[in-house]
Amino acid sequence: MKIFLDTIGCRLNQAEIETLARQFRAAGHEIVASAAEADLAVVNTCTVTSEAAADSRSKIRQAARLGVDRIVATGCWATLEPEQAAGLPGVVRIVPNLEKDTLTADLLGLPSEFFDLEPLARQPLPGLRSRTRAFVKVQDGCDNACTFCITTIARGDSRSRPLDGILRDVQSALDGGAQEIVLTGVHLGAWGRDFSSPRRLADLMSDLLARTRIPRLRLSSLEPWDLGAGFFQLWQEPRLCRHLHLPLQSGSETVLRRMARKTTPVSFAALIEAARELIPDVAITTDVIVGFPGETEAEFQETLDFVRRMEFAGGHVFTYSARPGTPAARMKNHIRGDVARQRSARLREVFAESAAAYRTRFIGQTLTVLWESTGQLSDSGWQMEGLTDNYLRVAASAPEPRWNRLEAVRLIGLSEDSLRGEIVSL
Ligand code: SF4
Repeated sequence: MKIFLDTIGCRLNQAEIETLARQFRAAGHEIVASAAEADLAVVNTCTVTSEAAADSRSKIRQAARLGVDRIVATGCWATLEPEQAAGLPGVVRIVPNLEKDTLTADLLGLPSEFFDLEPLARQPLPGLRSRTRAFVKVQDGCDNACTFCITTIARGDSRSRPLDGILRDVQSALDGGAQEIVLTGVHLGAWGRDFSSPRRLADLMSDLLARTRIPRLRLSSLEPWDLGAGFFQLWQEPRLCRHLHLPLQSGSETVLRRMARKTTPVSFAALIEAARELIPDVAITTDVIVGFPGETEAEFQETLDFVRRMEFAGGHVFTYSARPGTPAARMKNHIRGDVARQRSARLREVFAESAAAYRTRFIGQTLTVLWESTGQLSDSGWQMEGLTDNYLRVAASAPEPRWNRLEAVRLIGLSEDSLRGEIVSL
């Protein structure tokens, strides 16, 4: 069969679509670049915001318009709105998140353990180059109950993948040429807690670094309350990327309480201080929601001041989106859209300032860059772009494409949201 795979949303959805691609190929099927060529399509949906839910529906309609009459809808939106999903053109099957791990085996009538035996070769999705970095799912679901969050509802209780399966995926990614592994999950910091002999994320990281030749290991989003100071000792290992994405969501203690977040501005600040002490030049990035129900101007000002004080290396600002079924959606005093947008703009300015200040600190230094793009040929050579371990985007020119190489680069100046560099070995 010719199969078209599409996804929207988080790195976990991306990691899952890559796993589906490997499984379908291992079962002898072909992954195609367009729904127009496909006999079957699988769309991994998202519902973290109302926009994401709308984009998920339009991806399904688009696949149907391109001629696929067998569409499988999976992922968070399809899990929470199965009737709506089943009503869309071409949809023949809804696979809820809890059944996603056996989606391919079930669809092809294979035993569920069919794909568990051998590392599945990692080939790029059609139209995409083999990734320089590979997203590896290690955990799913979440046992927390942040009041704005639909993911914890859509993905169910926290559950960890066993080490063997993770090691297999990491090895197949390395065999496929990946230079960087990104560990991903819904609540990554909870990995191992549900095992009969509980383990910690730190144990997993140590095992992966000890048992593989991963050139660079990066972590995706981590909830701040999962991390103790001891965790940062791990960064004595140079293969660990000096980048921590720690969602703050609000800098106001009263808003955090209404969000049921297990952190406070004081404990968050102490965590960042501990990280900066033990991981030199670490990039701390974050997520903040503005316009949460009841957010007063004073509470927003607390967030603005806190974010300015923390000097983040970068941050995403989300305007609160009421998700049906979440406690926050039932709260009073929802903030007017224009007010929320205005707050979003003010906060983005603060993040832009601190991100530029963080980048500027590295001018004159030499850091290792993983070239991600093949680059564009210009008068001054191939224009390469890539990322340092501490999440700095760097551009440089080279006489030939240098995709997927880790190289020492002298950082010589700023350019919009990135840095300009010179490749040392040239
Ligand atoms: S920790 Fe909170 S925001 Fe994160 S997935 Fe769980 S409930 Fe959602």
